[in-house]
Amino acid sequence: MQFQEVRRGALVYTMVPEIPVPHAFTTRLGGVDTGSHASLNLGYTRTADKHAVLENYRILCSALGLNENKIVCRRQVHGTRVDAVTSRDLIPWDEPSPEGDGLMTDEKGLALLVFTADCVPLLLYDPVSGAVAALHAGWRGTVDGMAEEGVRAMVKAYGCDPKNLLAAIGPSIGPCCFEAGEEVKEAALHRLGAAAEALISPLPFGPGADSGYQAKEGKCFIDLKAFNRALFLRAGIPAENIAVSNECTRCNVDRYWSYRFHGNARGSQGLLVSPRG
Ligand SMILES: [Zn+2]
Repeated sequence: MQFQEVRRGALVYTMVPEIPVPHAFTTRLGGVDTGSHASLNLGYTRTADKHAVLENYRILCSALGLNENKIVCRRQVHGTRVDAVTSRDLIPWDEPSPEGDGLMTDEKGLALLVFTADCVPLLLYDPVSGAVAALHAGWRGTVDGMAEEGVRAMVKAYGCDPKNLLAAIGPSIGPCCFEAGEEVKEAALHRLGAAAEALISPLPFGPGADSGYQAKEGKCFIDLKAFNRALFLRAGIPAENIAVSNECTRCNVDRYWSYRFHGNARGSQGLLVSPRG
């Protein structure tokens, strides 16, 4: 399975054609928010123009055949808890969301949204129950095992068999740009053991490896997307059922928001997914 780009007018997002439910890993392109939040900002709490974000939800949902009034999201806190949600969890946009980083549902018509800007968005889909999950995994969620937690939660809530699950690992900061400290390396080795060693390097991975640049003293490069893929494999998802985006948010700052580049004066892209097929 491979990611593919979709263009609908000005709207640009990526998705995996083999995953037969409405879903989008969004870019900055195709919305109405302005300035440092231009244009498809999905971060409701990040902008002065909340009407622009609501219009962005409408634009995105319209392209996917979804209802912008049926989106569940959370105030993300870099945890690994995964909550099963239904339309009872819908709240008005001007009320604060509960904290959380993982959402799953089997309710048709309901959409799940996680926000990212360098962090890794993870999608799970079970073709038997029809359930989906949207997970937010920054470096902490990644090394704390959010990917495995997501699979465990889907098995428990919907009776999924991991070998049936389809998974997509979306655009995020790449191994070319994610330079991390000793605590991240230690946590990565603790989570994945020797298998983590191939995903940690003193040199940037990919094209940057030829640049002569080395990680600063005490730091290293970590391939967060490959780390999440390794966790999905360990949880029992077959390799052919896992798609990995090759896009780095930090290398493409006109197309994606990057926390490491833009800091806090930025919008958020995200993953929107719904069981409705
Ligand atoms: Zn990069």
